Amino acid sequence: MDRRILHVDIDAFLASVEQLRDPTLVGRPVAVGTGVVASRSYEAKARGVHTAMPLHEALRRCPDLVVRPGDARLAERYRQRVAEILRRFTPVVEVCSLDDFYADLTGVPLRVEQALAGNTTLDGERSLATLCREVRTAVRAETGLSVAQGVGSTRTVARLATTKAKPGGICEVAAGRELEFLADFPVDAVPGLGPKSAALLQQVGVHTVRQLWAVDRELLRQSFGARGDEVWARCRGLDEAPVQATPTLRSISRETSFEPRTDGDSQQLPFLRAMLAYLLDRAASELRAQRLLARAVQVRLHHVDGVRGERQRTFAEPTDRTDACMAVAGELLEELALRRVLVRLVGVTLASLVPPQPAQGALFGDGDKERRKLFAAVDAVRARHGFGALVVGGAAGLLGQLAVGKHGFVLRTPSLTK
Ligand SMILES: [Mg+2]
Repeated sequence: MDRRILHVDIDAFLASVEQLRDPTLVGRPVAVGTGVVASRSYEAKARGVHTAMPLHEALRRCPDLVVRPGDARLAERYRQRVAEILRRFTPVVEVCSLDDFYADLTGVPLRVEQALAGNTTLDGERSLATLCREVRTAVRAETGLSVAQGVGSTRTVARLATTKAKPGGICEVAAGRELEFLADFPVDAVPGLGPKSAALLQQVGVHTVRQLWAVDRELLRQSFGARGDEVWARCRGLDEAPVQATPTLRSISRETSFEPRTDGDSQQLPFLRAMLAYLLDRAASELRAQRLLARAVQVRLHHVDGVRGERQRTFAEPTDRTDACMAVAGELLEELALRRVLVRLVGVTLASLVPPQPAQGALFGDGDKERRKLFAAVDAVRARHGFGALVVGGAAGLLGQLAVGKHGFVLRTPSLTK
């Protein structure tokens, strides 16, 4: 069976994260970096600002450029959320550099809606375009980020297809069309051929992949060592390097900061409880979407005086039920809140994630079965109408205290608001 590899690249990643964090930056030229531009928004690109350009040059070209140092932790959270979304489509997801991913979609069955959409190419080959559109919609709805996607039979083809899809597009190279697709790329676009190797090839008149085909395999080996063989295969769409699943997430975390409640201790605990219930519900929903169970939960608080507390506890049985997780998390919160100093951040982590065991159903009684059905129904409503469509259990305490949108309560942490 022909392999079908998806490559996903987040558009203007770090600059987009800044625009999500600070909505006043939307539509404005933004660059992230210190010294040189590490990432720029498309508005900045239109004004002549490019990645790797010195910042002083970028500011000369675009004097109203907004320059930010970037937030690595926030970016990492967004990156993990994109990886989580991709894992709903296939378990084989490789998290590569800062902002790109490979996913092996070989053998991923066409779903009913794809079949209905008649998603086959003229040659009768099935197309993954509908699936890519689903990925794009999910990433956009849940993170606010835009992604470019490429599909091909090898990593190289998929990666180069993505370059044709930026920003926000989908480029699929049908099986059998690899050579035609690769022919006109410059040689330095082939992974493994850096600027130095490319310069060497250009000296002997080899500028494009098509010209590279004429170079003898032995000569490539002599010039580039073991990499020569890889390059020989890559530029022909023949490389067989697999997508290597990055070990799946060991935990799912959700946290947010807020204005500390200054109206007295008695008000603080119910608010913290409601906030924890809400964050936990979001984490547990993701856990269910990933078809995993958690063995443990951790709760953390940051106090206004800089002290941080955290506690972790193991569940009696692995679970994905919001209410079962909250029963234990609530106890941890009570213990942490004994320190009567105002709190400015609450976080929760579901940890030691495991896939469900087939025999597990029997261990849990009918009550558990009923509860699980309930949460499946909650998830289905939210998948249709947004996370904000239903407020579960203890999180109701936030009603009237925080604004509610389609994506749930409006929190300070933008990756959660969306
Ligand atoms: Mg990118």
